[in-house]
Amino acid sequence: MKHEEILHRCFRCGYCKLPSNYTDINCPAYQAFRFETYSPGGRMWLLRAWLNNEISNSRRFSEIMFSCATCGNCVEQCAFPNFKDLLLEAFAAGKEAFLDAGQVPAPVRDYLTKVQLHGNPYGKPGKKRPEWAADLDIPVYSDQDHLFFVDDVGAFDTRGQEIARSVAKMLQQAGISFGIGSGEEVSDGNDVHEMGETPLFEELAGKNIEAFNQKGVQKIITLSPHSLHAIKNYYPALGGNYQTAHYTQILAFSLGSLKFQSNGNNQRITFHDPCYLGRRNWDYQSPRMLLKALPDVHVLEMDRNQKNAFCCGGGGGNFFTDLLSAEADSPGRVRVREAAQTGAEILAVACPLCAGMLEDAVKVESLEGRLQVREITEIMAEYL
Ligand code: SF4
Ligand code: SF4
Repeated sequence: MKHEEILHRCFRCGYCKLPSNYTDINCPAYQAFRFETYSPGGRMWLLRAWLNNEISNSRRFSEIMFSCATCGNCVEQCAFPNFKDLLLEAFAAGKEAFLDAGQVPAPVRDYLTKVQLHGNPYGKPGKKRPEWAADLDIPVYSDQDHLFFVDDVGAFDTRGQEIARSVAKMLQQAGISFGIGSGEEVSDGNDVHEMGETPLFEELAGKNIEAFNQKGVQKIITLSPHSLHAIKNYYPALGGNYQTAHYTQILAFSLGSLKFQSNGNNQRITFHDPCYLGRRNWDYQSPRMLLKALPDVHVLEMDRNQKNAFCCGGGGGNFFTDLLSAEADSPGRVRVREAAQTGAEILAVACPLCAGMLEDAVKVESLEGRLQVREITEIMAEYL
């Protein structure tokens, strides 16, 4: 297994499952199940025992491996420099070894099969991808400055489509020149990559790179922070080199073109950092700049924010595979309770996956009357 030589260096001190001030559990998988095997250090030791033939693979073992939300808290908090940078790669290599051994949880198998067959996990034909924008005046990409890439959730999920439309309208309002794909693109492959399915990831990325290059794309705006991560960090090794930014980053640079006015609501808003924009790509400020530009808005921080933010549980494919449970200690439910404790009436998000995870959690926690999950541009639109 790739990176197996580093596994012995983890001595299970446990710092990686906590935030910087050590006050709470910050590994979503460990938070959900409270077994040491789900913690980052536990995963390392399980893999080591497996490679030493001390334990065999099993359904439970593979569920543990694939339940990692790839949130990056362990990379942020592990006590050992250099070694910690390889933690997520070692976990991905472990998943790859499980895939090779045919030991994969059924929801992971189903997700990967659909992506393999259709280029997306919804089983929809590619020509339906642009339909989210049918009622908007957005051109198919030709010679505009940017391609706006909405990936699978933006193209096919009902809530994701709403968010894609809201973001597109705000980009138009800010005077950004952009076009959208015409349906030849496929899944960004980020979750596939994090699940360790390297050949499928390379196939997906290769198709997107070919589609982007044929159109002469040089700059990409992503709806999802997960797409930002894949295109910016994984595509260059496969020949895809683009200037890639998340939509909050583009809008933060264009704030001068947006004129906001008070709507008299004096709203209290807290922001949930998406792991793939924050910890995985080190941008904590762009979304906050957008919220703080709104007149009379009070931005309240949750106890765990920015590099210590607690994950919603949707990363690493868990948005689709649901391996992190829906019980009271599931990441999404813990996170919306934390948001409600700030006294905010709005929980702002900047990722369609976070929106889905946290909206479900608000319903299960019966917080609908107290806390509303809203994507940032949906909030901004009320101040134009
Ligand atoms: S902080 Fe690093 S060394 Fe300590 S348990 Fe976590 S992964 Fe292992
Ligand atoms: S990436 Fe997140 S979910 Fe996965 S082991 Fe590390 S802290 Fe836990």
